[in-house]
Amino acid sequence: MAPPRYTVDPARLDGVLADPLFQAVAAEAAAQGLPAYAIGGFVRDRLIGRPCKDIDFVVEGDGMAFAAAVADRLHAGPVHVFKNFGTAMFTLRHGEDELQVEFVGARRESYSRNSRKPEVEPGTIRDDQERRDLTINALAISLNAGSMGALVDPFGGLLHLDQGLIRTPLAPDLTFSDDPLRMLRAVRFANQLGFTIDPETFAAIGRNAGRLAIISAERIHTELNKIIACDRPSIGFNLMRDCGLLQEFFPEFVALSGAEEKYGIGHKDNFHHTLQVLDNVCAVSDDLWLRWGAVLHDIAKPLTKRFVPGQGWTFHGHEDKGARMVPGIFRRLKLPLDDKMRFVQKLVALHLRPIALTKDEVTDSAVRRLLFDAGDDIDALMILCRADITSKNERKKERYLRNYELVLRKLKDVEEKDRVRNFQPPVTGEDVMRAFGIAPSKVIGDIKAVIKDAILDGRIANDREQAWQLMLDEGARLGLAPVAGMERPR
Ligand code: ATP
Repeated sequence: MAPPRYTVDPARLDGVLADPLFQAVAAEAAAQGLPAYAIGGFVRDRLIGRPCKDIDFVVEGDGMAFAAAVADRLHAGPVHVFKNFGTAMFTLRHGEDELQVEFVGARRESYSRNSRKPEVEPGTIRDDQERRDLTINALAISLNAGSMGALVDPFGGLLHLDQGLIRTPLAPDLTFSDDPLRMLRAVRFANQLGFTIDPETFAAIGRNAGRLAIISAERIHTELNKIIACDRPSIGFNLMRDCGLLQEFFPEFVALSGAEEKYGIGHKDNFHHTLQVLDNVCAVSDDLWLRWGAVLHDIAKPLTKRFVPGQGWTFHGHEDKGARMVPGIFRRLKLPLDDKMRFVQKLVALHLRPIALTKDEVTDSAVRRLLFDAGDDIDALMILCRADITSKNERKKERYLRNYELVLRKLKDVEEKDRVRNFQPPVTGEDVMRAFGIAPSKVIGDIKAVIKDAILDGRIANDREQAWQLMLDEGARLGLAPVAGMERPR
């Protein structure tokens, strides 16, 4: 068994009270006669020795006024007030770091079935802890005379931290039905912390998965991205599929599951394969969008799958179809539709190209075209491509890896020689118009394409002299004569 990822040590709370922030909160609590507590992620992370950049405090009273008074004591500010949420926060310099400090009045909440907007009324610390998502996130530290520094742990959060257990404070059906996002958070924390979801809690997620429909795409993708940012997101994806959550917002991914067999010929389970590729990428890159490239690289396999007698299973065109599916998936999940999406699309569209190169003899021309098409994203593409080599057949895998190394070397050599990675045409459309004295028209694009192809094929060098000559030759072929004085590049 893997060693526990974190060890819990209550002694880690010891220094907390000496901190000027905690002193200020405790002093203000005493001055106003209002019970105050540090709560949630900070307490959890402190106990397991994980860094934490936000601290939440709960006050049994007006959290907004309390925040302003604490900020005053610390000469900090400005205080940002979020009236709708009844919270207030300010940023505090803390050594090298900046801490986000947030205050909220203790609340009781009741939810209606069709919205995650609760009815809120003032409550006690216990009410507030009850409405938290998980026992490990409901731990509080008292900042009140008489119990100063004591852990307030009505639901066994400390024990669950020690056991590595994800559980809800109340009956899980109630906690999840009140706010279905908590189900995804349960999976996310299980993945991030390497914890196990308690069977009862897990079963309740299965029963309530459909309730995710009332959660906004933004909140869902925030949790999903946190799962994708884990060291091994396969754990979170498997959990999400097994409890039914993944189907609710990402059915295309679930559709990758399964390995069909016909006439004794099978294909690999693309759900597991994709997750292995994703984990492989995560081992070498933190880039969220490269990780998304891994998530989506084979997304169109179920839609392009055919059994072709004599060939077996084929997925022809899954890279192009997959690239075309990316905008729809990003739009539905409200992920950014900008250059990040285009980067993911490009990775999906090109993911077979490097390995395809290795199947035949690797020609300079094919390598140049790959460099041209990938541009600055070639390194990310090669990471994805390397991660995609997952064959269980060791000999096949070794061969692919050798070929992959060969392509890497070729890419380096060709780029050093021909500099096509950031290809800028050595002859521009403007040049073509001036050379032949013609107005903007289709023929300009045609001539430029001939020059580009000649460079990529290696028939001419990536240089202005040779490109200019080819422009003149191509012009002559099309019946265009150069303007006097334009026979040489200017
Ligand atoms: P991270 O910073 O990694 O997201 P965190 O636990 O600090 O972890 P936040 O989203 O900042 O997470 O939430 C702070 C605290 O608020 C949590 O520890 C938890 O007690 C509570 N919380 C957050 N979201 C919910 C929710 N949907 N339902 C109930 N409690 C929640």
